[in-house]
Amino acid sequence: MNHKHDLQGEDILVPASKTAPCSICGKEAHYVEISFESPICSKECAKQMWKQYVDTQVSRKYKTFSDFL
Ligand SMILES: [Zn+2]
Repeated sequence: MNHKHDLQGEDILVPASKTAPCSICGKEAHYVEISFESPICSKECAKQMWKQYVDTQVSRKYKTFSDFL
């Protein structure tokens, strides 16, 4: 295991066991944002996700990985 955790703020990505469309940009996502359990392709999109979350306070508008099972 060689996880590189970059703990700045609350955006924490972990490698996903499968791919799904990124919650923000729709590209193939290889990570899961563990706070939302949502597919995410990059740290940039994770930041965008949190910005939207903070702006809207709507946490469950994002799909989770289980939506794609
Ligand atoms: Zn993305």
